[in-house]
Amino acid sequence: MENKELGRIRKNSYNLRGFKRAFVFILVAAVLVATGSVLAWQQVTSRLSQDARESIASAGRELAENFNYLLEAEFQILSSISVSLETPAVLNYKDRLVSYLERQNNRNLFDSTGYQAPDGTAWFSNGEQIKWFLSPQEVKTVYEQKRYMSAPRTDPFDNDDILVFAVPLKEGKETGVVFATHSVSFYRQTLTANLWQGNGIGIIMDKSGDIVLSAPKSSFGNIFDMAEDFVFDRGFSSAKIQEDISAGGDGLSGYSFNGEHRFASYYPLKFNQWYAFAVLPTAFVAQKALGLMVMAWLICFSVIAVLVVFIVFILRMQHQNGRALYQMGFVDALTQADNLNAFHFKYAAAVESFKQKGVPFALVVVNINRFKAVNDIYGFEEGDKILKQVAHALQEGLQEGELFCRSSADEFLLLLACPGRTDLALRLDNVAQRAGRFCQADGKCMPLSLACGVYVVDEDVPFYIMVDRAKLALSSARQRAGAVYAFYDEEFRRRIVAEKNIESHMEDALQNEEFKIYLQPKCNFETGQVESAEALVRWEQPGKGLIAPDHFIPVFEKNGFILKLDWFMFKRTLSLLKQWQEAGLEVVPVGINFSRLHLDEPNFVEELSRLADEYGVEHRLLEAELTESVVFGNTVVMKRFVDDLHAKGFSVAMDDFGSGYSSLNVLKNLDFDCIKLDKEFLMCEESNSRMRVIISGLVSMIKGLNSRIVAEGVETPEQAQFLQSIGCDLAQGYLFHKPLLPQDFAKLLRPVKKNKRK
Ligand code: C2E
Ligand code: CA
Ligand code: CA
Repeated sequence: MENKELGRIRKNSYNLRGFKRAFVFILVAAVLVATGSVLAWQQVTSRLSQDARESIASAGRELAENFNYLLEAEFQILSSISVSLETPAVLNYKDRLVSYLERQNNRNLFDSTGYQAPDGTAWFSNGEQIKWFLSPQEVKTVYEQKRYMSAPRTDPFDNDDILVFAVPLKEGKETGVVFATHSVSFYRQTLTANLWQGNGIGIIMDKSGDIVLSAPKSSFGNIFDMAEDFVFDRGFSSAKIQEDISAGGDGLSGYSFNGEHRFASYYPLKFNQWYAFAVLPTAFVAQKALGLMVMAWLICFSVIAVLVVFIVFILRMQHQNGRALYQMGFVDALTQADNLNAFHFKYAAAVESFKQKGVPFALVVVNINRFKAVNDIYGFEEGDKILKQVAHALQEGLQEGELFCRSSADEFLLLLACPGRTDLALRLDNVAQRAGRFCQADGKCMPLSLACGVYVVDEDVPFYIMVDRAKLALSSARQRAGAVYAFYDEEFRRRIVAEKNIESHMEDALQNEEFKIYLQPKCNFETGQVESAEALVRWEQPGKGLIAPDHFIPVFEKNGFILKLDWFMFKRTLSLLKQWQEAGLEVVPVGINFSRLHLDEPNFVEELSRLADEYGVEHRLLEAELTESVVFGNTVVMKRFVDDLHAKGFSVAMDDFGSGYSSLNVLKNLDFDCIKLDKEFLMCEESNSRMRVIISGLVSMIKGLNSRIVAEGVETPEQAQFLQSIGCDLAQGYLFHKPLLPQDFAKLLRPVKKNKRK
């Protein structure tokens, strides 16, 4: 089941949203670029058409200026020839005239140069003579206007089209004219040159619109006649051009002709009232715009492409980072299962689904027993393998809608359906069995045990409280040897409440002397004579009666209060011993239970000794009872502790021998004065004859260590008989005496014999 929120987080961190965003971004960018391109296209076209108009206007002007410059140059040359001809030495001798003309002609670009006398005889530089080459009308114009240029006409010698230039020989006098001819094709070249790289058309026309010269191909006719077929743009017309031209002004026009749109500009020449007319097809402008657009598009798309690559790169990075972050935040690196965060995220939805289906559910904390020891002994690598195996076993058993995570080192959390306690217990047993054995690569196997704390969720409390409850149950499962699971239930809750109650009252109880000392005799099997005793605490809570130590000692062990209580009990013991001694009773040694926490108490032994001296009690009368679990694993510290006690003259007993980790090896190194057989031995004894064999074996071995043996929990004469027969020294049990009030115990003590007193 995928939790929505977690899914969202995963998607976020894996950046699907990033991809979507990027996709939208690219789409928007593409639309923007497309719209931008269209707008730019319009902008560029209109801008270019504006540019085209401007440059076509300047082209017309330039065309006119170039032409003017050219013609001016022609007239200059002609004038200088005319000046040089004025000398009578040339004019009067016609053969000299011709050779002179020929020389002059060779120096310039004219096709031919000539002189036409007032009688109409025209001499050419090529030696030819023609009558009235320039008509009398033309000659008249030359005299009047000082400069004359003809319309194109045919060369009299080679049928080429030519222009004829003429100036008077002498200004103000009708003494003939000097003329020159120049091929029209020469001017045609100048018409095309510089006009939009040959894309434009240059025309020279006269005032009436007749084409004088045109490029690139020669066409003749009248512009205004042609203009009848033009479709002019708004604001332009043929009439407008005619108007401009008749006024001697320049202008611009736009029109379509034969489906082609053009711009035209016209500008007056200095000669013959001719006009330069420049035409440019608009398609050329559009083509140029297209070129620019394509360029712009290419740039745009390159930018987008780079952007896309960049975004993809960034997203990839983000995706990878997101993955890493997700892994870090929600996945357990070792087992690849969910971690506590992920579990917590999924938790609410899973609980909701259980509730909807009406299925009871439970939060289970699972821990591997003594995993630290496994890690220490086999190393982290094997430890990791174990964790993976357990995680696998736990996950394998999951059913629809259930959750699992590794919450910390060797701790796992499960949210499981709990149709009934027995069902769930069975499932946990199965899992514990599946995960219960770990085999190393070399085939060596070790048993693994799991402890499970179960909280069957029965009220709406925050997640962390549920986890706390499951953990409390776990701690109780771990305390109970061999238990796989423990349920957090009413009984458990009561215990917790009771613990809290105990904790809140303990200090006051100590102050108010609610803790009472009881003494249980350790007796001779045969005579029943009290040989020694054990001090046992009882809590006499007002209104509640006597509370047995099993109810509060474990709590005090947990919170450390046991240290204070033990000292209190020790002092009470000392005070009683002192009291009895003073009353002339023959005191016996008394065993006092000391918690393992005293091992960490600095100066414990010194304090013990100081107090005993203060009360004037002989050290040999005091025996420290230490439980077996203290001994295990602390051999070095323990040995020093035992030795220190011995050095001060105290006795030391090992309590509850056989209840836990007894190792005779350990016993061998520690010099106990007394070994107390755990009462549990005797509880099994009746039903188990094998136990008798074990007990007798143990007793005979302990005997070899030179320690006294006290059997605890002796309740029947049969037990007493058996224990005595195998060599136990003393019996502590209900058969002889229950723990007694001090005054009752004192009654069992004999008065000191006279001789002893001395
Ligand atoms: P323990 O040191 O093993 O004490 C012996 C326990 O066995 C006592 O339980 C005693 O009442 C019980 N017992 C004696 N004879 C019999 C018998 O024939 N049958 C049965 N069933 N039980 C018998 P008690 O007094 O309830 O003490 C329980 C434990 O509490 C003690 O076990 C000891 O470990 C601890 N304890 C008691 N007083 C103190 C104390 O002052 N300081 C510390 N640290 N622990 C104490
Ligand atoms: Ca004891
Ligand atoms: Ca005991």
